[in-house]
Formats: sequence, structure tokens, C-alpha cells
Amino acid sequence: MNGKMKAALKVEAAPGATIALVDIPQISPRDVLVEVKAASICGTDLHIYEWDAWAQNRVKTPRIFGHEFAGEVVEVGREVKELVPGDFVTAETHITCGHCYQCRTGQAHVCRNVQILGVDRDGAFAQYIAIPESVAWKTGKEIDHSVASIQEPFGNAVHATFAGDIADMTVAIFGCGPIGLWAIGLSRISGASTIFAIEPNYKRFEMARNLGADYVINPREVDPVQKILDVTDGLGVDVVLEMSGHPLAIRQSFEVLRNGGRVSLLGIPSSMVELDLANDIIFKGANVLGISGRLIFDTWYRTRRILESGQLDLKQVITHTLPFEQIHEAMEIMKSGDCGKIVLTF
Ligand code: ZN
Repeated sequence: MNGKMKAALKVEAAPGATIALVDIPQISPRDVLVEVKAASICGTDLHIYEWDAWAQNRVKTPRIFGHEFAGEVVEVGREVKELVPGDFVTAETHITCGHCYQCRTGQAHVCRNVQILGVDRDGAFAQYIAIPESVAWKTGKEIDHSVASIQEPFGNAVHATFAGDIADMTVAIFGCGPIGLWAIGLSRISGASTIFAIEPNYKRFEMARNLGADYVINPREVDPVQKILDVTDGLGVDVVLEMSGHPLAIRQSFEVLRNGGRVSLLGIPSSMVELDLANDIIFKGANVLGISGRLIFDTWYRTRRILESGQLDLKQVITHTLPFEQIHEAMEIMKSGDCGKIVLTF
């Protein structure tokens, strides 16, 4: 399709973003062009917006950022097999190479040559996005646009929560951003026995409780380690889902874990973290799992079934819906932390 579109892009290697008119992307034979209806904001987008050390090393400008989205297919390349114009899609945002060791042995989620939408190639904060058909995920048209756009980060929660047993388990979730909040809900509907949520921002407490947390702990006021050990008779929890990336929370994750328990680490620390490896991991026999993205496409099928079951209303976590043009305001709200998920609409 020829013509211009509105997009939010990093023009320069500096903080901020520019809304500008740019060319609608041209599609390759195996791509589809999607008219974006909703795009949600991820922590990664804030890193790019603020242009932190990670973004400076990773992102080349000019770049349209944003990767969580949903929209309608409006054009398909000549080698596209399944999708047709009119289909409603979201996407797995990790475009895997298909030929590295990991891709060829069923571990595509840790592909060595991964390209991420909105990071390594142009993304979704735009009226149109071109994506390979291979990452498109068809979604029912009846699904609310904003819910359709948040399936990708919800998939992070699904992957982290279900990376080991969860039914009947005691669970501690550090960090109640959207992924942590969904992890609370997923643990609840999956039969977790007791759920502890650890979060310093009061604005997220009610959502954590509504999604099923039995204890919501503000670590600035109550020592979460002491509290969790008290409630579990000194045993600690069976499962920890670390969603914050905060160095102290990561250390506490291991301190509250029972011997032989499981920690899923998803939150990304911005620097090296010191741990008591001997006591908190080795002698404890801890099972430590790094959670990167989603299992491709196992997590997506699982996500679809959870949505279809109606057991968890993802919308509970959406606190703001703003027109795309207000992306700067949206980023400021993100920065404040006084929010759940923020969705931009087109
Ligand atoms: Zn690969």
C-alpha cells in the first residue's frame, strides 16, 4: 500500500519520541500489512523512550517502536498462505530465525538471532505495521481491541506462572505491574493455595487483591521475608515469580523460597545482582528458571484457551486507554508507576 501514516518514532538517539508522517511500510512476499487498532505500552517501550543504556546499545534510529498491538490485516504478500485481508491479528513479537540450534530443537523462544518488533525492526506505534505471517496470531474479531493487544505480555505471565507446578502451591509474586498482576490471577484460577503479592505502589493493591492475592505486602512498610516466613510456619513458599527486576526483591525471592522450591525470574535488573548462592540456591536445591518471552507457540495456544474459558478478565489490569497522539502523556504515567496496563488507540 502506498501513502503516508502517522507513527511515533525515535528520530534521534536521544530521550523522547516524535510523532511524524512516514511512509506506510512496504511488505515482503511473506509479510502482511496490519492496520493497528490498539497498541499497549510495555516497560521496554519506556526504556526506549527514555533512551537508557540498554536502548542505546540495542536500538538503531530512526525506529518506530511499540510491539504489543492488535489490528486488521489489510494487505498480504504473494507467498502468504493462511491470512487474508479482513483477518484480525496480534503477533508474537519475537521473530525467530528458524535455522539456529535453538530454533531447530524446539527452543525458538531463545533463538540466537531473534529480532524483536519495535526494537530491531519497525514496530506498532503507527497506523500500520508490516509483520511476517509466521508471527501473526489470529484473534476472534469479537475480542475487545485493547484485550487483543495485551495477549503478548499476558503470554509472559502465562509462561512464567506455568513453567512449573502451581496447583495447591504457596506462591509469592514480587512486582505487581501488569505481568505480575496477571500472574496473581493465573495462580488463583489454577488452584494456588496462598498467594503473596509484594508491591510498593498502593495504586496497584486493589488490583492485586481483586485478582486473588491473599496477602498484599508493601515492602517499604513490612519486611516481606519475615511476613512470608511467619505465614508459612517458617517453611517459605513453593513458588516465587519475580516480576520486578529489583535487586533487593530478587534477593528476597530466594530468601522466601522453601528448600527445593521453584523461582521463575522474569523482571530484568538494570545491573549485576549479588546473591548468596551457597545458602539461597545451592544448599536450598532451588530450581531457578529464566523466563524469556513466550514458548513459541505453546504459550499462545494456552493463552487462547485461558481467554476462551472466561476465567480471567484481562481488562481488570488496563487502567488507561488513550488516543495514540497522547503517547507522551502515556509515557509519563508509565514512569510514575501509578498504572496497570496503558493502551493506545488509533
Ligand atoms: Zn533461531
